[in-house]
Amino acid sequence: MNQTIREVKSQKKNQKAKTFQKRWCCFHNQNLKIEKKGDFYTVAFPTLEKKIGVPVVVRPYQQTWLDRIIDGTAKQGTATLYKKKKKWYVAIPITFEVKRRKETKVMGIDLGLRYIAVASVGTKSLFFKGNPCAFIRRRYAALRRRLGKAKKLHMIRKIGDKESRWMKDMNHKISRQIVRFALANGVGVIRMEDLAGIWKRAASAKEAGRSLHSWAFHQLQTMIAYKAEMAGIRVEWVNPTYTSQTCRCGHREKANRNGTHFQCQKCGYTIHADLNGAINIAKAISGFAA
Ligand SMILES: [Zn+2]
Repeated sequence: MNQTIREVKSQKKNQKAKTFQKRWCCFHNQNLKIEKKGDFYTVAFPTLEKKIGVPVVVRPYQQTWLDRIIDGTAKQGTATLYKKKKKWYVAIPITFEVKRRKETKVMGIDLGLRYIAVASVGTKSLFFKGNPCAFIRRRYAALRRRLGKAKKLHMIRKIGDKESRWMKDMNHKISRQIVRFALANGVGVIRMEDLAGIWKRAASAKEAGRSLHSWAFHQLQTMIAYKAEMAGIRVEWVNPTYTSQTCRCGHREKANRNGTHFQCQKCGYTIHADLNGAINIAKAISGFAA
């Protein structure tokens, strides 16, 4: 930052003030210090003349992390100051140690189109109903058609942003609930399908459908994974092959599954198909992803 100031100052001398704004759009600082006075936080950084403290707006979840930087349980990285839509932001990367949980229960998570996510651990399960992608499509399709005719590309793009923000928000909520559910049920390991290969192959209708929504599912898996890791839960990726067609008796057949209904053609066992998938994922019946 001192370097930036020096550059700006020298520019002033040379009267090239026109580039001033651009220069200030983003810069990094290793000496940024977070301070707390009462309930208020300031970020302090040295300038050439003196140290200045700027009050910052902090959300509750961000407070937790700032407090950890202050009490030393999290290490602060190089901060970045940047401007977005006339507002200034400071981004602070942090590193901290996570204690592995001693719990040993394994939870499996199945992702699908009728149920976004089904989590299973032991005899407990958690269902997230609905297809968020279909929902947002319906919500914005009509508007998009109208705008399409008027060729207002800018507006269409804006709606696209809105959709992805909505989806991101949704995925944050689902992943948070799943990890909370895991913590409440003594889970030490979360297993999810490694879907990297399946999207390319798309061997079944379910898989083909999932490929269309791959980015949304990928985002959800990523969020579950990092929230779990932060809570000390190990994340393992399993081979997804046959997880939806295999019965607890070991019999595997495509006809075992019909939509959300699973009925074994050999032993007659019935269960919600996605829950069966989650259970098989927890068991890693087809082994782990390479
Ligand atoms: Zn069976």
